Amino acid sequence: MRVRIRVTGIIQGVGFRPFIYRIAVKNGLKGYVRNMGDAGVEILLEGEESAINNFLKALENGKPPLARVHEIITTKLGGEHQYADFRIVRSSEEAELSGSVIPPDVAICNECLRELRNKRDPRYDYFFITCTDCGPRFTIIERLPYDRENTTMRDFPMCSFCQSEYTNPLNRRFHAQTVACPKCGPKAYLTTSKGEVLSYRDPIREAGKLISEGFIVAVKGYGGFHVAASTLKDKPLMRLREAKHRRQKPFAIMARSLEAIESFAEVSPKEVELLTSPMRPIVLLKKSANYYLSQLVAPGLHNVGVMLPYTGLHYMLFDNIDDPAFVMTSANPPNQPIVKDDDEALKTLCSIVDYFLFHNRRIAHRCDDSVVRVHGEKQVFIRRSRGYAPAPVMLREKADSCVLALGGELNNTACILNGSKAFMSQHIGDVENVETREFLRNVAEHLARLTNSRIEVVVCDLHPKFTTTRLAQELATQNGWRLAQVQHHFAHVAALMAEHGVDEIVGVCCDGYGYGINGEAWGGEIIFASRRSSEMKRVAHLEEQPMVGGDLATRYPLRMAAGILHKKLKVENWLIRNRHNFPYGENEVRLVLQQLEKGHGVIKTTSCGRVLDAAAAVLDLCHERTYEGEPAMKLESMAIKGRDVLQLKPIIKGAVLETTDMLVEVFENREKRAVADLAFSVHSYLAEGLAELAIEKALENYVKVVGFSGGVACNEIFTKIMREKVEAAGLRFIVHEAVPPGDGGLSFGQAVYAGLFHFKTQPFY
Ligand SMILES: [Zn+2]
Ligand SMILES: [Zn+2]
Ligand SMILES: [Zn+2]
Repeated sequence: MRVRIRVTGIIQGVGFRPFIYRIAVKNGLKGYVRNMGDAGVEILLEGEESAINNFLKALENGKPPLARVHEIITTKLGGEHQYADFRIVRSSEEAELSGSVIPPDVAICNECLRELRNKRDPRYDYFFITCTDCGPRFTIIERLPYDRENTTMRDFPMCSFCQSEYTNPLNRRFHAQTVACPKCGPKAYLTTSKGEVLSYRDPIREAGKLISEGFIVAVKGYGGFHVAASTLKDKPLMRLREAKHRRQKPFAIMARSLEAIESFAEVSPKEVELLTSPMRPIVLLKKSANYYLSQLVAPGLHNVGVMLPYTGLHYMLFDNIDDPAFVMTSANPPNQPIVKDDDEALKTLCSIVDYFLFHNRRIAHRCDDSVVRVHGEKQVFIRRSRGYAPAPVMLREKADSCVLALGGELNNTACILNGSKAFMSQHIGDVENVETREFLRNVAEHLARLTNSRIEVVVCDLHPKFTTTRLAQELATQNGWRLAQVQHHFAHVAALMAEHGVDEIVGVCCDGYGYGINGEAWGGEIIFASRRSSEMKRVAHLEEQPMVGGDLATRYPLRMAAGILHKKLKVENWLIRNRHNFPYGENEVRLVLQQLEKGHGVIKTTSCGRVLDAAAAVLDLCHERTYEGEPAMKLESMAIKGRDVLQLKPIIKGAVLETTDMLVEVFENREKRAVADLAFSVHSYLAEGLAELAIEKALENYVKVVGFSGGVACNEIFTKIMREKVEAAGLRFIVHEAVPPGDGGLSFGQAVYAGLFHFKTQPFY
């Protein structure tokens, strides 16, 4: 019998073809397997029918851990048997095929970890031990195809032992481009903060000891440098916070083991699954009652971001010490991308760290750690980067043009939509200056090259002053691409629609700020979209509230609270009592009140984030926003311990959910009720009110699906209340699963909006 089998999915660079080889040979089959680029893998088999059936069973059940199979199509062929053996057709012949999928970096696998610990193994104690199932991919690839000579591993010619494994189809390291051993692979070394090499026999474990003792060490990893410090000692963390100008922003930590994590945080089965997955993201975990790490790790928050080691090097850091975890924060100067080159590290980190733990492999692409959290059983991306990027999000349909989307401003990513694949870049960060702008530009160019995409349309936000908007305009002119601009919240909702393949939706979109259709400050919007009638429009929103001093009201949430409360109450005395929370004290308070009276310097916003900020200020949880989302995050952390004591009924007037009376109630109860209960009541009021409005709009428009997007959708309490209410009304409730609900998912939304949907109202060309 002869058959042809087509397999599509993420099956490149994951050991899929060697796996096919092994199961074919095991079943005595002849023929070949070959890479078809975008079209997946083609397998031709000749042999007994029973052997072919066994092969197919093995294909279904035994595929490599990293392979994601989308489809297997088997066709019977006629004709004579032609092959004398089974072979893997080399990849250079098919390299030109487009739409290639670049595999993301993968955490060390259990086999490699066992070998790392086995004294008799040739790779015993080798910090960069990898195989076909694990190791870096994206961060070392310089060009296609994914062969060793096209990666930064080309600086390390294989020794004869590694070569023999690399060329043996039955070996786990067959065609593993990262194969290396202590003899031929990258080396690690420790230096002082000035880069003077210290001759330690065991630099990695020495670095671990130094961190444990209270020193700060920069550690070079796969996609960039981390700054590592003790989680038990306050002093290095205070130093680090001062040096990085990060007064409050939580630090991610790396724990030595799952048991260690369980000693300070609560871990659900779903969270265990994510922590130990090959992607090894940072998972936001609830601090346990006996949380004993320094309060400086994640101040004022109920959760802490934890990851497990993902390279041999990380495991070895913990070998000679007892610390449960180290702070492992991305090394990046303020508002700049993560540091990846050695000389750059020495230059920018020498004043922050005491030591450097280098290795001598170049990093082709910087890539920050991913961050996720779990709502109930569902994973929510806070940041989709290492371990995921640039693996595509698969869509249910094909785009009619090839689109490059540049995202918005904060927490940015880029996205290329090519056919039915949406390739999202790694985390880029806030694109506000030259460095991040260049990083974004490079990422976009590289992503286009690696995926063989011929861009036709470039998309950006509607905001005329965003750096990304100007970059898009420039790229459009330079390359003759079409330029499209998509409204911020429309992009968020489009992302939801594409992710779930829904044609009609009422989407609730809540975040901090997005440029509205007519330049308004939006952020608490209800959007109706229908592909049937080709329209997307805002149908309801939160009450407009004054932002005194514009951006200053974002930084100092008391200004926001003052503006809202001032509508109904005399807040002068309260503000004066709080003058220490204004940088210019009482004078500033007077000015704020004056501005409110006259309406000067006051812009209006419908932002949900700003209302949460105001509540956080009224409840004294946060008076200065030192990082994106801080007041709202602290409000949620407090609310987790509370219940809905105020039981406020949502006040809906027309298509507007009012927020003033709610805040007034919170204000007037602030000395009578527990802060946690008031914080919860704020969540409850907004989530219920928004859900009520969305349900009303869904029924009005005969829509069966209500979705929730925007940064506020990272909030678990909000999501839970809305889901219950929407589902109780007999409607389907959807949230993001494949892309972040926040602005890290914006580029994806822009791309599908421009490449997939054809709404009459937008985009603006
Ligand atoms: Zn491995
Ligand atoms: Zn070797
Ligand atoms: Zn947003």
